Order: sequence, then structure tokens, then C-alpha cells
Amino acid sequence: MMMIESIQLKRLSENAVMTYTPAPRDPKAPPIRINLLSDTQTRPTPAMREAMARAEVGDEQIGDDPTVNLLCERVADLLGKEAAVFMPSGTMCNVAATLVHCRPGDEILAHESAHVIAREGGAHAALGGFQITALTGADGQFTPETFRKALHPRTRYQAPQTVVSVEQTANIGGGTIWKKAALDDIVQIARVNNLATHMDGARLLNACVATGIAARDMAAGWDSAWIDFSKGLGAPIGGVIAGTRDFIDEVWRWKQRLGGSMRQAGICAAACIYALDHHVARLADDHANARALARGLSQIEGIAVQQPETNLVFFSPDGAGISGDDMVEALRKRGVLLAMMDGRIRACTHLDVTYGMIEETIGLVREIVRDA
Ligand SMILES: *Cc1c(COP(=O)(O)O)cnc(C)c1O
Repeated sequence: MMMIESIQLKRLSENAVMTYTPAPRDPKAPPIRINLLSDTQTRPTPAMREAMARAEVGDEQIGDDPTVNLLCERVADLLGKEAAVFMPSGTMCNVAATLVHCRPGDEILAHESAHVIAREGGAHAALGGFQITALTGADGQFTPETFRKALHPRTRYQAPQTVVSVEQTANIGGGTIWKKAALDDIVQIARVNNLATHMDGARLLNACVATGIAARDMAAGWDSAWIDFSKGLGAPIGGVIAGTRDFIDEVWRWKQRLGGSMRQAGICAAACIYALDHHVARLADDHANARALARGLSQIEGIAVQQPETNLVFFSPDGAGISGDDMVEALRKRGVLLAMMDGRIRACTHLDVTYGMIEETIGLVREIVRDA
């Protein structure tokens, strides 16, 4: 008994040290001047904070917060769906969605690099008893053909395939944009085979701004779709998931079960509404900065850069004789924060990153490569 207990404790403490690296607030490290770690690092602007302070609020859990209700109407309209619900996080949007779409033992199909597989703490297995089939394909995307080939007939001995999920944009794929035609094909195949369709739209609006395609068109035919407000849109908290009225009713029940129902959440919803009004078109600036960063880095001998389509720049300095980890650490010593993600360095542009910071980062990388 004692043995088992101590093994479990050991495993717990091993887990405890597996935190996000690098530690965002290392007291010994120099202050962070340039924060390329993630678009979650944006701080609410003074104007956004003012909008939050002025927000009319009520009790969100009983549907009585007017600012939350307005936000949900706005997002339902934006995504061309009947209804929407405000959630504390994008992760909860994904988890609640699969909990509604699937039953225990069901199979979800998603790309092998998807957030639902790699970054949600095993929620879909732990809470729903679902298995996720990892589809392969370049740049975080699978082709409609790969999806079709992964489908099997409904038999007694195979898991019921219930939902297909895509990320628009594909995060680990390099912030790549799913083509509208591929999205439509996947919807079509899913319909024929009786699968529900789920769009993880954490950065959907980045894809929309980059392509000029409206969000409601990108999400057309998808049973559930959501956008994150705490990424490039610059709000402190929240995601909004949309779908049919019946679907959203069921999401509400899971939101309550998961402890995600809130009270005077209008304070946060006001930041999201502010972001919809002021922070969407400007995502184009982040994309331009990402392209500038990629261009500058690719001119440094030995640095391999994936051409960005949106605000994420993945690169590897291996060819310059320095590991990604060492590059991240050297940049951190110079006040630049970014991180390794699945074997490459990810730099993320957002509303707190200026063109000047991009130029400076390129210069620092050049210097570190020269000294290596
Ligand atoms: C960030 C992210 C999520 C989760 O959103 P949170 O608001 O951080 O919980 C889900 N999917 C993708 C693709 C993301 O980038």
C-alpha cells in the first residue's frame, strides 16, 4: 500500500515539473522586451479595459447578462449559426462540443497535431470516453481523401465514428489556412457518412482576414464552430462556440457540469465585443509582421523557415549549428521570449508586437548564429 502510494506521489511530482517551457517569469532572467511566445500573451489595451469597466452586467448563468447575450448574438451572426454560448476558454469549447456530439466509445477524427489530441490534458478520453484517430497530412491538415480512407462501415466491432474536427488555422501545422474547397469537401463526406463536423476556430478570424473569406462562409456546413478571444483578438478570457439552438442548449448543460457557468461575465464579454469591433482587421498587421520575420530569418544562413500564412512563424536553426533549445535560451537572455513547439521554434506575432521588434529579433538571431 505504502509502495503504491509513493509511486503515485512520485508520478505526480514528475508531472508537476512538466510545466510550459521556458518559465515565463524566471526571476533571474532579464525582463522580456519582445514577447513572441504566443498570441495569448496580449494584454488588454487601455481602451479595452475602459470598455470592460463600462460593461452592463448581470448573472450570466441564468441568461441575464446583457453584454454576454450581445456577444453571443454577435458571434452566432458572424459564424452564420442559430445560437452561441460564451465559454471560459477555447479548450472548454472543444471539450463541450465533443461531449455533445459523441457518446462513450465513439471515435473522433482529427489531425495528429490537433489541440484536441495534444493539448487538452486528455479531456476527451477522461471526460467523454472517446478515442481520437490521428490523421496525417502536411501542414497540420489532412486531405478529404485521407479523411475518406479513414472511414469504415458501421460494424459491431469498430468504434462508431461520430465527429470530424479541423483546426482553422492549423496551429502546429504553421498557422496554415484550410482551403474553403477542402473544408466543403470534408463537410460533404461527413454528411454522407453521418458524422458531425466540428471546427476548432481558435484562429479562424486570422484565416478570414488573410483570405478575405467571411467567417460565416468558412464555417458554413460545420455543425459546431468557435472562435477564441484570448489569442490574437487580445481579450483576457473567453471563447464563443456556435451551432444550432439545440446543440447550444446541450453545450450549456456541459458548461454547467464542467463548472464553466459564470456570473457577471459581461466584464469579460465587453472585452470580446471590443475586440470584434477593433481588433479583427488589424490581424493583417500581425500577418505582415510574421512575413517580415520569416523573410529576415530566411536570409540568415542555416535557418530553415516555414513560409507563414498567418501570424505563426515556425523555424529551425539546426542548419546554423545551434539547436532550437539553445537559440530559445540565447534569445531569452537578450529579452526575447519564444518557445520550442513540436521540434521547431514558434514565433507568434500579435497586437503587442511591433515591426521594430521584428527587426530587432532578426538582428539578434543573426548575432546568435554568428557567435555559435
Ligand atoms: C489555443 C488553442 C485552443 C485552446 O484555447 P484556450 O482558449 O487556450 O483554451 C484550441 N485550439 C487551438 C488550435 C488553439 O490554438
